[in-house]
Amino acid sequence: MAKKTIKKSEKEAIQKLARPPVVVVMGHIDHGKTKILDYIRKTKVAEKESGGITQHIGAYEIEHQGRRITFIDTPGHEAFSKMRSRGAVAADIAILVVASDEGVKPQTKEAISIIKEAKIPFVVALNKIDKPEAEPERVKKELADNEVLVEGWGGQTPVVEVSAKTGQGIDQLLEMILLLADLENLILNEEKEAEGVFIESHMEPKRGITTTLLLLDGKLERGNYLLIGNSVETIKILENFKGETISNAVASTPVVAAGLSKMPVVGDKFKVFKNKDDAKEFAAKNSEEKAASREEKIETENIEEKINPPTLSAKNIESRDVYNKNVGAETRVENTQEDGGINFNVILKTDVSGSKEAIEEALEKLAYPGISTRILKSDVGDINESDIKLALGSKNVTVIGFKVELSPAAEELAKNNIIRIIQSDIIYDVLEKIKKHMEDMLPSEIKRVDLGKAVILAIFKRERSKQIVGGRVEEGALKKGAMLEIKRHNDVVGKGKIIQLEQQKNRADSVKTGNEFGLMAESDIQIQEKDEIIAYEEEKVRRKL
Ligand code: GDP
Repeated sequence: MAKKTIKKSEKEAIQKLARPPVVVVMGHIDHGKTKILDYIRKTKVAEKESGGITQHIGAYEIEHQGRRITFIDTPGHEAFSKMRSRGAVAADIAILVVASDEGVKPQTKEAISIIKEAKIPFVVALNKIDKPEAEPERVKKELADNEVLVEGWGGQTPVVEVSAKTGQGIDQLLEMILLLADLENLILNEEKEAEGVFIESHMEPKRGITTTLLLLDGKLERGNYLLIGNSVETIKILENFKGETISNAVASTPVVAAGLSKMPVVGDKFKVFKNKDDAKEFAAKNSEEKAASREEKIETENIEEKINPPTLSAKNIESRDVYNKNVGAETRVENTQEDGGINFNVILKTDVSGSKEAIEEALEKLAYPGISTRILKSDVGDINESDIKLALGSKNVTVIGFKVELSPAAEELAKNNIIRIIQSDIIYDVLEKIKKHMEDMLPSEIKRVDLGKAVILAIFKRERSKQIVGGRVEEGALKKGAMLEIKRHNDVVGKGKIIQLEQQKNRADSVKTGNEFGLMAESDIQIQEKDEIIAYEEEKVRRKL
């Protein structure tokens, strides 16, 4: 027994090799995360190689002092949190970027709590040290107030003063990362089939669905099988982060796999199989587990139905409003925000969770001042009656279906209640339709177009709000039906409209510069001799996203 154990650990020792650290950069917006990542990439990836990096794939590798470091190139907490929410801590080390002129801000605090929860070592980069306003000591105190005790402030958290602008301190930062990595004892098992996390997925016109895989353990070879949802895909196109074709890769390496048929969900963990049958077996087991969790979901849908009972599935818009009035304040989703803005409410149904995520993200990016997008429900599966019932409970709901069917009952219900449905198999098309719809929702802008200016020389007749006046056009032209602005001693004193226009006692549609005219005006004040009138028209301009 003892002998066997020794043998096993010997074998493991041979298989387990040191692997480079995977680093994530976090911190408050504008504190320089992107610039630090850019600086490191530009200076640490050999010139001719970095020239080859044309596509942002979400991660890159550098070499410092002969050792490799992998950077997750999607700064911000969102990507990291997403991975974490799926149970994958993709990074070994974090860099907490704090601008030394600004100090600890809300997202710095958020980053601190995420890093601490993930229990990964981190180094503080006090960025923008080149700025005259930089106050590193004040920032260190603020960090201490937030339970990040850096060296010299009663703690051991390493801190490096850097400037992503000048490059000051960047080498020390990388050295610190390598030091932390040494303490972590990062190893990989080459004998194992690769596993890791999807860090970016997108559609390429020529190569189809393309994803960046960050390998966290094991070894990946071209021709291996990758599981995406329940579909088993062969990895036919495999590249390194520079876009060069490779035949295999080991842990900590970001690689690109292209030509896939399903869009992987960013942040999801993946497993690679050498054998197709193993992959299929794993998929089958997985789908059984999913079915169990789906049953749970159906129960939740029933709860939704209770909130939006079918008896209230109204036949027309008015009854829908009645319904809105009847439901409790908590369940009611209003169309307008407190500040008068518009809510664009969405129920999203897609074929796979990868496309669900892609559309959700695209929706967030479509934000337009005055319109806020709210996703009421986002799920994988066909558009069914319960989706439409949910839509009935709120105003201004658009049901979006991507690569899914619309059940006949749902279609009927939607038709009767004028619920807008966008259905397409092309993401671009879905987004264009959403954009168009959002534009339609925006109130038009009224643009004033000045037509001409005239001076009033005589008042002929006054009759309640109407009066007949005469004058001379000084600039441009007056036009029948145009609006009027009335100015006295250069101040705007009233508004009106040209009802009728005459030139040399003949009716005219317009009177040009230098000519005298008579006009009947409707106005909110009485026009006087020597007043200046400006004729203008109002144009409605559709706002564009
Ligand atoms: P992120 O939102 O954290 O990714 O921040 P960015 O990298 O986009 O940087 C925000 C702004 O700060 C940009 O205008 C950068 O040029 C500037 N910036 C970033 N790092 C430095 C630095 O070290 N020094 C100076 N002076 N400006 C910097």
